[in-house]
Amino acid sequence: MNQEDLFLSADEKERYLRQLSMADWSEEDQLKLKKLHVTVMGIGGAASSIINNLLLLGVGKIVAIDQDTVELSNLNRQFIHNVDHIGMSKAESLKIYARRLNPNVKVIAKQVKIDETTIDEGIDPETDLIIDTFDKWASRSLVNRFAVKHKILYLMAGVVSNCFYTALLHSPHTPCLNCLIGRFQGPSVVGSFQTAIFAINILPIAAMGAFSIAELIKYLKTGETTNQFYFGSLYNTKQDIRFFTLFLSKHFKKISEEQGIRWGPIWESEGMTKLKLSKDPACPICGNSQFDEKN
Ligand SMILES: [Zn+2]
Repeated sequence: MNQEDLFLSADEKERYLRQLSMADWSEEDQLKLKKLHVTVMGIGGAASSIINNLLLLGVGKIVAIDQDTVELSNLNRQFIHNVDHIGMSKAESLKIYARRLNPNVKVIAKQVKIDETTIDEGIDPETDLIIDTFDKWASRSLVNRFAVKHKILYLMAGVVSNCFYTALLHSPHTPCLNCLIGRFQGPSVVGSFQTAIFAINILPIAAMGAFSIAELIKYLKTGETTNQFYFGSLYNTKQDIRFFTLFLSKHFKKISEEQGIRWGPIWESEGMTKLKLSKDPACPICGNSQFDEKN
């Protein structure tokens, strides 16, 4: 551990004065954040909200990974980028944003495509938390395997229509992503979505970022995850949530029904829905000791 991680500098004490004044937030809590090394997969809309919160709250180190460059059509939601950065790599754009917002946070941004051949080199297994904002379930599946293998905290979060969802997972203490989202490779489902332009705006993304990082704060304070899945809806109008529900595992649907929650292609209620999670005993990724045997 670096010596400077053991205390807050005068600059940091002044910067974080208002949050250090909160009844449930101490200098010790701030130092826990400062010692944290977070890896964020993707530097798009969801990551803008999440990284922004991490920078403002004062996390120690962020490693962010994205292969893309900034486009004008990103800028209705990806607020860490701006018009001057169109054509620039999202990694470089993030570095500029982060330096201006909070130079106390160490930010490493990499322009890398993550797949089976690059993931072991791309992600440091010593990272404390992986926040997966990839927009394809198949890519998330790969990251989930990595997190389970190395027993790393894994935040699954995303938005669909004007709804958002988040859960902080920590296998083997909690289910893994594969226990909950089981249909990664359904060809007909994936095919129809690959050609679509997803409708998306900043509002559910902003809410998702706050609820997600609140889960991290709860974990830092208690040392364990809440083991809850949160689904939030901003409006009580018809929201098309097919892109989420089509991929749910049988286990996820079963525990949802047991708790009175029924998922369909359309969601019409407003506010938060909470689901207590459990592991799928038949999960091929975390449901046996295949990784433990190797380690
Ligand atoms: Zn699992």
